Amino acid sequence: MANYKTHAINLKFHNLGEADKIVTIYSRDYGIVRCAAKGVKKSTSKLGGRMQAFSANNLMLAKGRNLDIICQAESIESFGKIRDDLTRLAYAFYCVELVNHFGTENDPNSPKIYDALFETLKNISMFNEVEEILWAVMRFKLKLSEYSGYAVELETCVKCNCHEKEFKSHHFFCPDSGGVICGDCGASSHESLEIDRRYMKLFRDVTNFDFPFENEHRDKMLLFSSFNILKEFISRRTEKKLKTLELMEILC
Ligand SMILES: [Zn+2]
Repeated sequence: MANYKTHAINLKFHNLGEADKIVTIYSRDYGIVRCAAKGVKKSTSKLGGRMQAFSANNLMLAKGRNLDIICQAESIESFGKIRDDLTRLAYAFYCVELVNHFGTENDPNSPKIYDALFETLKNISMFNEVEEILWAVMRFKLKLSEYSGYAVELETCVKCNCHEKEFKSHHFFCPDSGGVICGDCGASSHESLEIDRRYMKLFRDVTNFDFPFENEHRDKMLLFSSFNILKEFISRRTEKKLKTLELMEILC
């Protein structure tokens, strides 16, 4: 039975008998791994505190026949502040659910996805304003879409290919087609949402900066509606309804 080490973030848990749990982790080196945390429900377990949702650990795992087994966990970051606040918790669960959904085993992009999730959880736990949290989660959604092969098209019209610099004042976003649509094409499309230049700038800036530096970036209405546009885009790419969406609608 070979051992291996990897940095990993806990995504999901299932009970396994009286004392054990199956943990789905996103590891920096191997993407999604489902593994067993033996004895984790016993009060004497050394793994206990490390096996909470969102916690990032340096794990030692042993290859098993069905499930790999967690032998050791050193804490990297527990993101404790996320658990103190329901809004933070809802956004963090949403990010984790997205990775659980889009993540794959042995994904070649696993270091990028792990780093993006780590950065986002750190920002959600650190940021105080909802505008900042929305920014962090939107940035994450754009990155995750790109690394999962569903990059959002923001440069050219997804219907006629003209560059966004040629767009007229009104243009559109089409969640099904996966990007922006120029005014001419959008007028004939039923499923697209009308947006303007502020949205385009926001999406571009969210991609480039990890924090809303400018005052115009802190427009809560614009942030929420941009967030919902991306949420719609992602929902169209998932086969089943994400559980955290209902939680977010109640809390956020
Ligand atoms: Zn067009």
